[in-house]
Amino acid sequence: MQKITIAIDGFSSTGKSTVAKQIAKHLGYIYVDSGAMYRAVTLYAMQNNFIDADHFDRLALVSKLSEIDISFTFNPELGFAEVYLNEVNVEKQIRTLEVSSFVSQVSTIPEVRYQLVKQQQKMGKDKGVVMDGRDIGTVVFPYAELKIFMTASAETRAQRRYDELIGRGDAVSYEDVLHNVQERDYIDSHREDSPLVKADDAVEIDNSNLSLEEQFDKVLKLVTVTLEGKE
Ligand code: C5P
Repeated sequence: MQKITIAIDGFSSTGKSTVAKQIAKHLGYIYVDSGAMYRAVTLYAMQNNFIDADHFDRLALVSKLSEIDISFTFNPELGFAEVYLNEVNVEKQIRTLEVSSFVSQVSTIPEVRYQLVKQQQKMGKDKGVVMDGRDIGTVVFPYAELKIFMTASAETRAQRRYDELIGRGDAVSYEDVLHNVQERDYIDSHREDSPLVKADDAVEIDNSNLSLEEQFDKVLKLVTVTLEGKE
């Protein structure tokens, strides 16, 4: 059967990665979490004191981009690939609220985007890939056969992210998580380079009131129709 490229974009914490992982597993496709790559660059910037609450030395980060190696290694126990920063597994470290609070600023830098988009396009060159992010259907794979744009209310998304962080044992407040979700939405949608917008040919899914099964079924139907259209 022919393989396609599936691009899943949308606002923060819309559950893009959950459905992307399920679909990739079902189809035997590669799953790529592009947000993890921006988070790994952000973690690098934090570790090297290029960014904190009071300052952000963009030039210093850009000058070190060639020293940042980001890769994914499949973890069979978890059933998905974990992200490595310079050969260190940083899957847990990149999911903190602190990284979330800086990542959208780092993602505005065109040099950062250029490097990561190049790597993402390489990972998807043979198709058979499900990639989620903000600019996958518009910039990374503008010719993707299937584009999905996920939305849900900010409150629903914040509650999901809050539950996830609390479940991991992180001490966070719902208000801080909601603020972060709204702030990232704003920066991601208003940046100059590759802002978060729905591609004209993307199918919008609001999952505020959908269970995971319903969401999966909806996306799988779209995949089936797309694959049939190619036969
Ligand atoms: O998907 P996730 O919430 O982990 O993404 C973290 C951040 O990375 C986003 O808020 C956004 O600033 C940035 N990002 C991006 N382009 C992508 C994926 C993520 O700018 N394709």
